[in-house]
Amino acid sequence: MPIGISKSRKVVVVGTGFVGSSYAYSLVNQGIANELVLVDLNKEKAEGEARDLNHGMPFGFPMRIRSGGYEECSDADLVVITAGANQAPGETRLDLVSKNAKIFKTIVTSIMETGFQGIFVVATNPVDILSHVTLSVSGLPKERVIGSGTILDTARFRYLLSEHFQVDSRNVHAYIIGEHGDSELAVWSHVQIGGVPLKRYAKLDNVEENKDMQLIFENVRDAAYHIIERKGATYYGIGMGLARLTKAILDNENSIITVSTLLEGEYGLDNVFLGVPAVVNQYGVREILELELNPQEQAKLEKSGKILKELTEKVL
Ligand code: NAD
Repeated sequence: MPIGISKSRKVVVVGTGFVGSSYAYSLVNQGIANELVLVDLNKEKAEGEARDLNHGMPFGFPMRIRSGGYEECSDADLVVITAGANQAPGETRLDLVSKNAKIFKTIVTSIMETGFQGIFVVATNPVDILSHVTLSVSGLPKERVIGSGTILDTARFRYLLSEHFQVDSRNVHAYIIGEHGDSELAVWSHVQIGGVPLKRYAKLDNVEENKDMQLIFENVRDAAYHIIERKGATYYGIGMGLARLTKAILDNENSIITVSTLLEGEYGLDNVFLGVPAVVNQYGVREILELELNPQEQAKLEKSGKILKELTEKVL
C-alpha cells in the first residue's frame, strides 16, 4: 500500500526536549510513522517543534504531525516517553531517579486514563528503573513496556570497534548489556566481526585484558559524560536508536535489539528491568535472548541487576 494511506501508525512522543525532538526528526526523515503527536508540559515548545517539522514535509515522507495532549494516546500504537530532567555535568543517571519517577507516575497515569492499549517505549533516565515504574503504574503486560536500555551503548560499542578495526559497524556484532549506566558491561565473549569471533579476528589471547579493548569499553560506558561535558546533552544517537526501535515494532520486524525489559528468571535474575538482547515485534518484546556468559560477565551482570533492583524497590 502506498505510504500515507496504509493503516494508521500513530506515535505519541511525550517530552519534546532534545531527545524527543531528535527522535521526531529521525521518524520524519525515515518515514517510519504516518501520524505523530508531540506532547510536552511546555505546550508552546511542542507546538513550535510540530510546526518546524511540518515545514520539512515536501522534502520527506507524508506524515500528519501536530502537538496535542494526553487524549491523543487513546488510539496510539506507541507512546514514547522522553520527558523529564536530564543529567547535569557530573550527575549520574541514577541521580535523576526520584525527580523523574515522580514525573513518570503522573504521566503514565494520565496516559492510562485515556484507555491506551499500545506499547510504551521509555527513554528518560534512569531508563531501566523508569521502565519498571511504567510497567507497575500502567498494569500493561510486560512485553508492552520497553526501555531503550543499552540500545545506544551497543551502538556506541559497535561504532568504536568498527573504527578500531576499520570494518563497517553494521558488520560488527556485539552487545552491551545490564544497566544503561555505570554498571553496564560488554559481552566480550560474543563479539564477532562478520561472524569471526573477536579473539580470532584480532589475534588476541585475552580480549578483555587488552589495553585497546579496555579503552573502547571505557569510552562506551563514559560516552554520555564526555558528550555532556562538551555540548550539555546527548540526543542524536538516542533519537536514531528510538527510531530504529519504533520501526522494529511498527513493521513487526522480529529484530534483535538490546532493550530494557523485565527479567523473570533469565540470566538468573528476577523482577528487574535491564538491557539484554531481545526479539522485538508488533507485540513488543517477543522473547529475551539468553547469551551464554562467561563467569566474569555473569558476575558483572548480577552486580548491575542488584544495583538496579535495590533502587527500583525504593522508588516503587
Ligand atoms: P530536555 O530537558 O531537553 O527535555 C525534557 C522535556 O521534558 C522538556 O521539554 C520538558 O518540558 C518536558 N517535561 C518535563 N516534565 C514533563 C511532564 N510532566 N510532562 C510532559 N513533558 C515534560 O531533556 P533531554 O535532553 O531531551 O533528555 C530527556 C531524557 O532523556 C533525560 O532523562 C535524559 O537523561 C534521557 N536520555 C536518555 C538516553 C538513553 O539512551 N535512554 C540518551 C540521552 C538522554
